[in-house]
Amino acid sequence: MRLAPLCVLALAACQAGIHQPEAADLDAAIAANPVHAGHDHHATATVFTAAKRLLEGNTYYVSMRASNADISAQRTAALATGQNPFAAILTCADSRMPPELLFNQGFGDLFVLRVAGNVANDHVLGSLEYAVEHLGVRYILVMGHERCGAVDAAMSGAELPGHIASLGAAIAPAVREARSRQGATLQDCVEANARLVADSLRKSGPILAAEVEHGGLVVEAAVCDLDSSQVIWLR
Ligand SMILES: [Zn+2]
Repeated sequence: MRLAPLCVLALAACQAGIHQPEAADLDAAIAANPVHAGHDHHATATVFTAAKRLLEGNTYYVSMRASNADISAQRTAALATGQNPFAAILTCADSRMPPELLFNQGFGDLFVLRVAGNVANDHVLGSLEYAVEHLGVRYILVMGHERCGAVDAAMSGAELPGHIASLGAAIAPAVREARSRQGATLQDCVEANARLVADSLRKSGPILAAEVEHGGLVVEAAVCDLDSSQVIWLR
């Protein structure tokens, strides 16, 4: 089955009571992003395509509760000697939000990093740098999610056992940032964490920051609604 046009999917999502951003809004938001305005037209076009493919894929999954991604033997055979993923996803290890299913993507489409709380350490940064430098990825999405246990643990202030403490420490700045505003909820902290991690990737030298600077890379943040599986971009 071919992927239906976005307008059809958006209509289906609307009929299902799901509020999804319009494609035109997405285009406008990306075009207005000063990170890549007017520098590298090829990269900008690539970013348009990557973000739209993710949005279309998530809209399809939310609407249809099915996948038509290419997981065929022909596809895996074609990928055996190389890969060209169109986006990288840094997201939580939580079992309830597998990115390939959420975005209706198949083998070879997404370069995925998963770690509890979607935080970035040197191994994560090195992996993303590899994706950008060697695989040509021009779009990175940092995706948190509703009711994230790692963020909840960081909010608790409890002494976390073993290496879990390192996750709490990595998420703590987002908790502080969210709590600088009145009445911060778990969802506020989840969103603050996704935004802060995305921001840290944009500033990560020497490779990611340089790509962002000259318009060859866009990093955005999003959160996944566990009830609906809808991905909501944070802009
Ligand atoms: Zn989580």
